[in-house]
Amino acid sequence: MPHTLLALFAHPDDESFAAGGTLARYAQQGVRVVLGTATRGEAGIVHDEGAGNPPDMGQVREKELRCACRVLGVQELRFLGYRDSGTAGDPRNDHPLAYCRADPERVVGQILDLFREFRPEVVLTFGPDGGYGHPDHLAIHRHTTAAWEQADTLPHPPRKLYYTAISAKTFIRVRKAMYEAGLIPEMPSETEIARRGAPEDAVTTTIDIRDTVEIKVEALRCHRTQLAPTHTWLNLPLAFRREHLGHEYFSLAATRGVAATVPEEDLFAGLEEG
Ligand SMILES: [Zn+2]
Repeated sequence: MPHTLLALFAHPDDESFAAGGTLARYAQQGVRVVLGTATRGEAGIVHDEGAGNPPDMGQVREKELRCACRVLGVQELRFLGYRDSGTAGDPRNDHPLAYCRADPERVVGQILDLFREFRPEVVLTFGPDGGYGHPDHLAIHRHTTAAWEQADTLPHPPRKLYYTAISAKTFIRVRKAMYEAGLIPEMPSETEIARRGAPEDAVTTTIDIRDTVEIKVEALRCHRTQLAPTHTWLNLPLAFRREHLGHEYFSLAATRGVAATVPEEDLFAGLEEG
């Protein structure tokens, strides 16, 4: 039996931005990669003029996500079936099907069903900051963590729980390199750094994605409504990408029956195949 990695995110494109290089790397290694996405990104705004303004954004973004899954090597994609809540304060927060209003028990039950069906050893989701605080990102973090905590009675509960986490130091280093290369007009503000960067010791796990960083970019290109083809992130020189964006960072939040030693460079460290 190959290993299984289950990633849980809120919207189409989260998977590629937050962990695209890692998902592609493990898929290449023969790990079964499964993605659960809470919504179809209905509240997304079209950033690409050429992509037009679709009447059903959810349908378009579902297609974009399926494209990204093919590129990344994600074998199974499941939608939890909620509606994108939009950013904090958006009137769509109050839509009856908005994910940020979903009944936690119901969502946790759906995630436990995914644990039963796919028996992932490793589960991956947003950290407690939700990447940058989007209410749906915070919700998938809470629900995944609660499902992990309730998984003890399953015959094959997951063994390692990871959160995405970039340290403030790394965030500043990357932005500084981009600024110096003329790729961004200014350095991020203190507020943005504080909002985006985790404390150094929260980051336990560094995944080398230098060999899959181009696949990550191809997956991001699938999310055409969200990232115009001219977007800076899609047009960085390969050498820059490998040097400055060639790693993804995670925080090992909990383990079950695994002797994990951190820091580590493999999500499956300490787990035997079988
Ligand atoms: Zn998102």
